[in-house]
Amino acid sequence: MNKTERFVKQLTRKSDDFSGWYTEIIRKAELADYAPMKGMMVIRPYGYAIWENIQRLMDRRIKESGHMNAYFPLFIPESFLQKEMEHLEGFAPEVAWVTHGGQEELEERLAVRPTSEAIIGSMYAKWIKSWRDLPVLINQWANIVRWEKVTRPFLRTTEFLWQEGHTAHATFDEAQEETLKILSLYKEFVETELAIPVLAGKKTAREKFAGALETYAIEALMSDGKALQMGTSHNLGQHFSRVFNIRFEDENQELQYVWQTSWGTSTRMIGAVIMCHGDDSGLRLPPQIAPVQVVIVPISLGNWKENVLPQAKKIEAEFKKRGLRVKLDEREEFTPGWKFSEWEMRGVPLRIEIGPKDVKTNRIVSVRRDNQKKESLGLDSLEKKIPEILEDIQKSLFEKALKFQVENTHQVKNYEDFKETIETQRGFIRVHWCGDEACEDRIKEETMATIRVIPLDQDLQASEGQCVLCQKKASVLAYFARGY
Ligand SMILES: [Zn+2]
Repeated sequence: MNKTERFVKQLTRKSDDFSGWYTEIIRKAELADYAPMKGMMVIRPYGYAIWENIQRLMDRRIKESGHMNAYFPLFIPESFLQKEMEHLEGFAPEVAWVTHGGQEELEERLAVRPTSEAIIGSMYAKWIKSWRDLPVLINQWANIVRWEKVTRPFLRTTEFLWQEGHTAHATFDEAQEETLKILSLYKEFVETELAIPVLAGKKTAREKFAGALETYAIEALMSDGKALQMGTSHNLGQHFSRVFNIRFEDENQELQYVWQTSWGTSTRMIGAVIMCHGDDSGLRLPPQIAPVQVVIVPISLGNWKENVLPQAKKIEAEFKKRGLRVKLDEREEFTPGWKFSEWEMRGVPLRIEIGPKDVKTNRIVSVRRDNQKKESLGLDSLEKKIPEILEDIQKSLFEKALKFQVENTHQVKNYEDFKETIETQRGFIRVHWCGDEACEDRIKEETMATIRVIPLDQDLQASEGQCVLCQKKASVLAYFARGY
């Protein structure tokens, strides 16, 4: 058995054990590792490079839409959280507390931020005085701690990285407009950069953020048929402004409470990329976020260091000059075959092979990670061809994921059919729901499926129907699924 075979055989098959496959990819592609503390992970350089690409592309959008970054403290006084009971009760089971500073017991416990509405609200109360101060449009890149009982790398860990936007507005309408603007920004980001199609819509009252008026979310279908929430945008109404006394003098010199929003996406998105695009050979990264977009593997035959390597280096330098993220794998201790499977495991979108014959004919061979398609290309065509191929890979990954989502979005005749479909096929089920929490609860209890989103364009889709459970007249269409 050669090294190549060993490398590939070590990976669990996705269809045999999805969850084992997921954790193995994370470890073998060196995205993350388990930290010594339970429920925590270390993001390794290759995983962190993916996060940096995500961060850069998201940050650009956040700024282009008028927001600025700031940084607020990690610790939140207990009394701040207690000011808002719904918010506190929502997060209490997951809050980590600081009780001592050195040897000294603190007079007041400090929460390690589980989210920043309270600390940011208290500052907005100081900064906002007049209608001229509005809107306030701030984003923060930060770490968050939630003491989770069941954890999984990238999907749910005690500490994770995210961005959280916090805005304040003069009217409800402006806050609502902001909430929906961010929802579509998230959808566009995830579909364009991560190549993952999502459903966007509203959460039900039982699924909404603690303290929000309304929560909106984007939901994606992973390739095991379970849904993953990939970002949320909340209209907070005047809930926090009343608690933290964030008021402004309007144009008629009357004091008004501001209207707020908050919204976030996190390192969980990396988990989605793995589960949505990965296959039995490992990761498949969309070129837009891949730390290495093109890997060059010289074929180590004969005098390859004299004959092949200089040409490979020239191509590498050319690509770098054009802004491509490229890596030349000139390690001597591994065979080309071993390198192929290693880079496949790590999800590099495009591989370029170059051997002695190719040097003579001024050609290379390109191999796509997404469909294994091989192509022989002349050196003079690379400048044009390589960006085209990368763009096509990005598009194909999205189209494949979209096809999967469409094929796994089911219509059902009745509740029996619903239960059977969820059990045997998973995926999204699109059905009428009466709006009653009792039905929502019973469906969750009996099938483990929850309402992922209520799509926004209800009027177009839902004319009349019956609730899938109670049969009452229903005009709300909802997407159910088992989720992460
Ligand atoms: Zn019902």
